Amino acid sequence: PWPVTLDNVTVRYPNGVVALKDVSLSIGAGEMVAVVGLSGSGKSTMIRTINGLVQPTQGSVTVGPHAMTALRGAALRRARGDIGMIFQSFNLADRTSVYRNAMVGRFSHTPTWRTLLGIATAEDRDIVMRALDSVGMLEKVWGRAGALSGGQKQRVAIARALAQEPAVMLADEPVASLDPPTAHAVMADLSDINADRGLTVLVNLHLMDLARQYTTRMIGLRAGEVVYDGPAASATDAD
Ligand code: ADP
Ligand code: ADP
Repeated sequence: PWPVTLDNVTVRYPNGVVALKDVSLSIGAGEMVAVVGLSGSGKSTMIRTINGLVQPTQGSVTVGPHAMTALRGAALRRARGDIGMIFQSFNLADRTSVYRNAMVGRFSHTPTWRTLLGIATAEDRDIVMRALDSVGMLEKVWGRAGALSGGQKQRVAIARALAQEPAVMLADEPVASLDPPTAHAVMADLSDINADRGLTVLVNLHLMDLARQYTTRMIGLRAGEVVYDGPAASATDAD
C-alpha cells in the first residue's frame, strides 16, 4: 500500500466556487480513513483531485511514488491504474456480464493491443475471479450486471477496482444509494479489503455512524476546509 499526501491544495472551479481551501493532510500506507461532510463540502473534489481528474489551482498531491498534480497524458493514466475508484452510482456496463465488468479493471491497468481486443490471459482470469470471490460475487459471475441488486452492483464495482491490483482505493459515497443493511455489508467489504490486502482506503461518507464503525480515522470537511482530523470512534456530531 501507499501513502497519500495533499500539500496546501486549493481547488477553485471555473465558476468561482472554491471547493477545497488550502487542505494539507497525509494518509499513511494501509490506513482506512473516512472523509465526512455535508453535500457540497468538497468530498468528491478531494477524491477527484487525488486521482488527477481535477487539477488543483494551488498545491500538490502525491500517491505513493506518483506526483499526481505533475503528471499528464499517458503517465497520468498509468498512475490512475494504481488507484481503484468506487462511485455512488456503480458505473457498471449493465448489459454486460459481471465477469466482463470486473475484467475492465484488469484491462485498464495494462492497455496493450491484447487488452484492447479484450483477450484475457489465464493470469487475468485468475485475478478477476479472485477479486469477485473476495466480495462474494463468484456465483453471479456469468449473469448480467444490470440484473443485480444495488449492493451486488457495488460489490462488482469493488471487484473491478481490485482487479486493477491497486495500491490505494478511493470510494466516493459508495453506500449513499444503498439501504442500511446493504450499506453495512459493503462497508464491511471495504474494511476487509483494508485489513486483508493492506490497501490504503479513503472513503467519502455523509453518515458519521458508518465512519465510526468501519474506519479508524475521520477527516471532517466543511465548506472546503478540514474541521476535524482524528480518531473516528471519538468524533461527535459537534465536531
Ligand atoms: P455530490 O454532492 O455527490 O458530489 P453533486 O450533485 O454536487 O454531487 O455533483 C454531481 C456532478 O455535478 C459532479 O460531477 C460535479 O462535478 C458537478 N457539479 C456539482 N456542482 C456543480 C456546479 N456548481 N457547476 C458545475 N458542475 C457541478
Ligand atoms: P461533496 O462531494 O462534499 O458533495 P463536491 O466536491 O461535489 O462536494 O462539491 C464542492 C463544491 O464545489 C460544491 O459547492 C459544488 O457545487 C462545487 N462543484 C463541484 N464540482 C464542480 C464543478 N465541476 N464545477 C463547479 N463547481 C463544482
